Amino acid sequence: MERAVFLDRDGTINVDVDYLHETDKLEFIDKTFEALALLKAHGYRLIVISNQSGIGRGYFPAQDVERLHAYMNHILQEHDAAIDAFYYCPHLAEDGCACRKPQPGLIYHAAAEWDIDLPGSYMVGDNEKDVMTAVNAGCGYGLVLSGHTVSDALREKYRDHLYQNLWDFARHICGMEVE
Ligand SMILES: [Mg+2]
Ligand SMILES: [Zn+2]
Repeated sequence: MERAVFLDRDGTINVDVDYLHETDKLEFIDKTFEALALLKAHGYRLIVISNQSGIGRGYFPAQDVERLHAYMNHILQEHDAAIDAFYYCPHLAEDGCACRKPQPGLIYHAAAEWDIDLPGSYMVGDNEKDVMTAVNAGCGYGLVLSGHTVSDALREKYRDHLYQNLWDFARHICGMEVE
C-alpha cells in the first residue's frame, strides 16, 4: 500500500482568496514547491482534498476548478512537486453530503483509488475542519498557520500538531530538523 499526504488547498498550498477559481489569482504560499517536492521524494502521494461550495452556490462552474487545478499542476510539475490527484466537494453544508470536510468521504474515495494506507498517511490544512477530517478518516494530521486565523484555544488544543506552513510540516514528517 501507499502512503499519502492529503492536502487542503486554500490557505495551505495557495494563498486563500475567497472562492478562488481564476488562474490569475493563484498565488502559492512561500516554500510550497519545496514542501511538496520533499514529501514526494519521501514517497508520499500528494492528494488535494478540498471543499469548493462555490460550485454548489452557482458562483462558478466545476470546469473553472478543473482548469485551475490543471494550471496549478502545470506550475508544480516544473518543481517536481505535482499533485497526484485533486478531489473536491462541490456541495453546500446544508446538502448533507458525505464528501464535504469534515466528512471523510473524499479521503475514503481517494484511498480506495490509490490503495492508500490511512494510518500511515496525513491530512494537513489550515482549518480545524481539516484536522477533524483526518481524525474521522484515521490519519495523522497537521494544522498550518499559513491561512485561516487559528485562535489561541485551537493553538493550545493542537499544540503538538501545529506548523507555520506546509514546509514546516513537510520537514517535520520527513524527519528533517526544522529551522
Ligand atoms: Mg483551507
Ligand atoms: Zn460533498
